[in-house]
Amino acid sequence: MFGTALSQLRYGMAILRNRRIRPQDLERIARDLVATLAEFGEPGADSALLPGQAGAVDPAVRRTVTERSLRATARAAARHTAYYRRTFDTLGLDPRTLTPETWDQVPVTPKTALRGLPAAFVSAASSPALMALTTGTSGTPTTVWYSRAEVEIAVAMSTVSAVLGMGLRPRHTVAYAGCSRATLPLLNVEESVTRIGAAFVQIGTVEPAVALNRLAAPLGLRGKAPQITHLTVSASYLAALVEEAEQSGWRAADFGLESIGVGGEPLSDPLRERAAAALGGTLSTSYMMTETVPSGGTPCTEGHLHHTTEFGHLEVLDPVTHAPTRPGAVGIIVQTPYVPYRDCTLLLRYATGDLVRLPENAVGCELGHLPATSPVLGRWSGPLSVEVPTRSVLNLLEAEPEIPLPARYALVDGPSGPRLHVLVRRSPATGLLGRLEERATAQGLALDAVVLHDDPASMPATGPVRADLREQTFEPARPAAVRIASPA
Ligand SMILES: [Zn+2]
Repeated sequence: MFGTALSQLRYGMAILRNRRIRPQDLERIARDLVATLAEFGEPGADSALLPGQAGAVDPAVRRTVTERSLRATARAAARHTAYYRRTFDTLGLDPRTLTPETWDQVPVTPKTALRGLPAAFVSAASSPALMALTTGTSGTPTTVWYSRAEVEIAVAMSTVSAVLGMGLRPRHTVAYAGCSRATLPLLNVEESVTRIGAAFVQIGTVEPAVALNRLAAPLGLRGKAPQITHLTVSASYLAALVEEAEQSGWRAADFGLESIGVGGEPLSDPLRERAAAALGGTLSTSYMMTETVPSGGTPCTEGHLHHTTEFGHLEVLDPVTHAPTRPGAVGIIVQTPYVPYRDCTLLLRYATGDLVRLPENAVGCELGHLPATSPVLGRWSGPLSVEVPTRSVLNLLEAEPEIPLPARYALVDGPSGPRLHVLVRRSPATGLLGRLEERATAQGLALDAVVLHDDPASMPATGPVRADLREQTFEPARPAAVRIASPA
């Protein structure tokens, strides 16, 4: 849910003011919205923040705002953080003279720099209040310090986004099935949901059968829908829930889900369909990462990911040379979250490692005024991650019921191309190999071979996914068979 439909908000506010949005404006808007909801049950129909109410932004205005934001952020970073003070001194760069055209004089900040010394990125002018850690599925977790003011901004934006983007109302109950240690999103979702008057349940990444029981359980609360209505989840843990639901005979009608918000990992097209069939509800995605909050991306109806211009600066660059990516090519997202929305951990040109493709031509969709990329294709880990991206492999594998979810696979570079090793339910799986080879060719995946395994021990090492951050419970999972047989 975090970040969904924020682009409308950003856009609407930029129009209204033709200037930067002050953090206190965000908090005021969130407060007003909650008050309107409490009084009238719906946000005002004349709200300029509602989707479709915004007009066009003058490119000259946008350029001025961008330049001012880049300079202010660079100045704060060079003045108040050890890392960027050294960088700017060494290069003899003056942050006050930077423009969008000369912004590439600032060196790209690798993830390893932040991971190695998080305190070197914390502004001496701020008061660090919350240490957020990334999940670290790609290695060691990254530490990001937040101030109390930054948390307030994130909550305000999340509140507005939940009311206007998701249509969250007091009768709803939101369950968070992300990792319980993901402090920032957890705190943010809990706080914004309960401000609206809706209810919040922390499920965590527990045994999938336990999570399904929790989702299906009647709430029995006056004024609330009979069951949990909204679920926030990572793509791989959603896959684990779909696997359990399909294998144990759950039906979508067993749940009261209206909406499933998926983030953190690429969501494949077949998983989207299977989740809607198995659990019910509408699936939505958004792009947001701990390091670059509140900058993020929202998908449009044409399948692009559109990125904020109000709260941060997006670049798509070659993962090795850091040259700008050409239209139609794949590069990594490099983000600069702006002050004053960020005042504690300051990052300039932060290399997220998230791979996206740039559209070949200008886009004409409803969010066409915002920079567009493809959805995230995967994480950069060398040339193979671009040739055979995670999203393509998941689109291939998660369509096959003979492959347990979340799909476990390994790509191993061979002499005549990459080999895709896949864990299957049982071997020999009838027709599966031929079908995978055929579909891989049709998708344009240059694989040397597909190798099926029915024993995890015979597989090459597979990458970790968020669903692996399993949390223990004392709660026994009630099997679906018992559930069906028991009287209503
Ligand atoms: Zn679009």
